[in-house]
Amino acid sequence: QQDLSLALQLIPYSIDERMLVTQDITQWERDEKVRRDFVANVSHELRTPLTVVGGFIETLQDSDPLPPATQERIFQIMETQTDRMRRLVEELLSLSRLESQTGVAPLTPIPLSALLTPMLLTAHQLSQGQHTIDTQGDFDHRILLGIESELSSAFGNLVANAVRYTPPGGQITLSWREEGEEGIFTVQDTGIGIAAEHIPRLTERFYRVDQARSRDTGGTGLGLSIVKQIALHHDLTLIVDSQPDKGSTFALRFPAHRLGLPENERP
Ligand code: ADP
Repeated sequence: QQDLSLALQLIPYSIDERMLVTQDITQWERDEKVRRDFVANVSHELRTPLTVVGGFIETLQDSDPLPPATQERIFQIMETQTDRMRRLVEELLSLSRLESQTGVAPLTPIPLSALLTPMLLTAHQLSQGQHTIDTQGDFDHRILLGIESELSSAFGNLVANAVRYTPPGGQITLSWREEGEEGIFTVQDTGIGIAAEHIPRLTERFYRVDQARSRDTGGTGLGLSIVKQIALHHDLTLIVDSQPDKGSTFALRFPAHRLGLPENERP
């Protein structure tokens, strides 16, 4: 063994090679920290609902029969927490699938109008009549080129956030406009807004401006990291403009090669 360590010490290397090794280690340490933080975050996110559900199971097993109303409430809470875990796992899987994909997404033509319908449904379901939801621009005559499930998920995430971070009585506007060769999908809300210092970090996994508010409204902290991956796949640019207490605008800018026209409107 001594011989081997001596041999290693004697291997000559240039300064450049040494620098390369140091850089690799720094990058490796950074990646390792990201992985560790990620595992810690996932564990933390799962621990709370698991503790709640586990606690209630014990209560139901150990206590004398509970009044029906109490029992009903316990089941409701357990269901909410189980839904929360299911959503988290689904979003983690979806993020991991997106992150492991490489290359350009295949160009499937998708009518923009076909994406609008499920989006409006999501918005109305989450809002439960507490917000004004409207659309602006021509959603009818544009074909997008991409993967339908991914674009639907990206649009849906932006719409869901708009509803979740806008107090009742607020307004949410979905719009489509075209500038030169590009198309821009926008979700604008009159909600709580985001302070400038948070904006660069919004697409990090589990980054939330307000932990409690995100959790209370059913957020997993993964929505915008999913949107970012989908944007990368489709060569879209995600643009955020927001002011605290005034509202936010999230936009996805489609380049010319991601846009098409319906067959009967092609020149
Ligand atoms: P979450 O599940 O917590 O909503 P996201 O990744 O979708 O996770 O968003 C990250 C954070 O960005 C949210 O926790 C919230 O603080 C902020 N955010 C996202 N969309 C909006 C919005 N429309 N208005 C205000 N804050 C928002």
